[in-house]
Amino acid sequence: MAKNLRERDVMMCRSCGNEERASEGYPCADCGTFVCIICNFRGVTLCKSCRAKRPEPPLTPNHSTKIDWPEH
Ligand SMILES: [Zn+2]
Ligand SMILES: [Zn+2]
Repeated sequence: MAKNLRERDVMMCRSCGNEERASEGYPCADCGTFVCIICNFRGVTLCKSCRAKRPEPPLTPNHSTKIDWPEH
């Protein structure tokens, strides 16, 4: 009877386009749209359009912050 409950739980990830379970995903940090858990594991907290809006991701301590600094 309630077997299609699972399918109703599925949403399309706005980052990678995969259909994942909404209950396991996270909202985009910017606009709150659905971003799947797989993207979150990869460190993606923003949907595709929000990432496009942002010049650089805010949470990347790994990468050296490239400042527009004149060399030489
Ligand atoms: Zn995704
Ligand atoms: Zn977004």
